[in-house]
Amino acid sequence: MIRRRVSVLGATGSVGTSTLDLMDQAEQAGTGAFEVVALSGGANIARLAEQARRWRPAVAVTADPARLEELRAALAGTGVEAAAGDAAIVEAASRPTDLVMAAIVGAAGLKSAWAAAATGATLALANKESLVCCGAALIQRVRAAGGRLIPVDSEHSAIFQVFPEAAPERVARLILTASGGPFRRTSLEAMAGMTPEQAVAHPNWSMGAKISVDSATMANKGLEMIEAAYLFGMPASRIDVVVHPESVIHSMVEYVDGSTLAQMGPPDMKTPIACALAWPDRLSWPAPRLDLAAMGQLTFEAPDPVRFPALRLAREALEAGGGAPTIFNAANEVAALAFLDRRLAFLNIAAVIAETLGRMVKTGADSDFDDACAGALALDARARRLALEIVGDLALVA
Ligand code: NDP
Ligand code: MG
Repeated sequence: MIRRRVSVLGATGSVGTSTLDLMDQAEQAGTGAFEVVALSGGANIARLAEQARRWRPAVAVTADPARLEELRAALAGTGVEAAAGDAAIVEAASRPTDLVMAAIVGAAGLKSAWAAAATGATLALANKESLVCCGAALIQRVRAAGGRLIPVDSEHSAIFQVFPEAAPERVARLILTASGGPFRRTSLEAMAGMTPEQAVAHPNWSMGAKISVDSATMANKGLEMIEAAYLFGMPASRIDVVVHPESVIHSMVEYVDGSTLAQMGPPDMKTPIACALAWPDRLSWPAPRLDLAAMGQLTFEAPDPVRFPALRLAREALEAGGGAPTIFNAANEVAALAFLDRRLAFLNIAAVIAETLGRMVKTGADSDFDDACAGALALDARARRLALEIVGDLALVA
């Protein structure tokens, strides 16, 4: 039986909802017993209130102060404290618990992940953007507090499960798999006119809107390359990406002797979430199973650098080091949201990243701040301002 006190940040999103569903399924199967300490959400008050009624956390927080009254009304009579705003999310993230699932989307998740890291709880990290922005400092902070960071991103969960933590010198290379996204076979001409609806229609994974766009541009794999470099202490030159459209092999570790270990599973985020929730134990739940014979074959191809330039830009940002990954992340986030708002053409997402990085490349990480988180947030804000200007210049011109 897996017993944990859990806080879920970004509970109303795709990863957050899957986390709570999984906990529910494990409780029903009699294999898990979970106490929820804190839940946070954004605009979706109805879902947050429903989750709070089911799990009775000590506190439920919406990011939006204008929605506090609505949340309070929805929680009336439950005994669950209602709170609102960024500072309240940080406070909720700091409460003693065994595990914090950090599943807010974007750099907005950084402050709460940073706060959770200092508590000594296990940090189950889905919010890859906070790792890309704060890198080694976030990992160090978790360690210093006596906690443990467990990646939730499926590729990093895969690597984590087959990586020789005590002897990293045995590793030659990390191989991240990528589904290739919805435009794997789409011509550059056709990609120019793609709509948000087409971009978020992912062939294998059901995810939030922003990461779905990242998957369509392959900026997601770029963020994941940076994430892997920090998590496993590998330089960019030893991280490769292979497109694997079936999304069954979730990533691989090649050892120095030529042996390659892979982790496999159906493309369902609940499996890496279950791994993070229970580690080093394993959670038994009614998981979908692989049927390799029915599948017949697994295929692989190299990513196309011409149609997916965001991948190269991420590699360059990682190699440049300093604040470059933070700038990459901020520019990508601004551009992806502008595309979702129909203010930017699809191919211009990468153009905004390239231009922002190009103009800020000489900018180092800000150093005159209390900690790495504050420095990353200041740099993130500056990169966002510039990226927004560039979005205005490029707009829908392909
Ligand atoms: P969603 O968009 O589905 O959910 C995001 C969550 O964050 C929601 O709870 C949302 O609240 C909340 N939120 C949004 N903006 C803010 C804000 N400014 N402050 C506080 N909370 C906010 O995202 P996903 O679940 O898809 O992704 C979450 C993270 O996990 C991302 O970093 C993503 O890259 C990563 N990830 C996701 C995977 C997936 O399969 N979805 C796979 C691997 C990684 P509300 O909806 O109520 O507004
Ligand atoms: Mg992933």
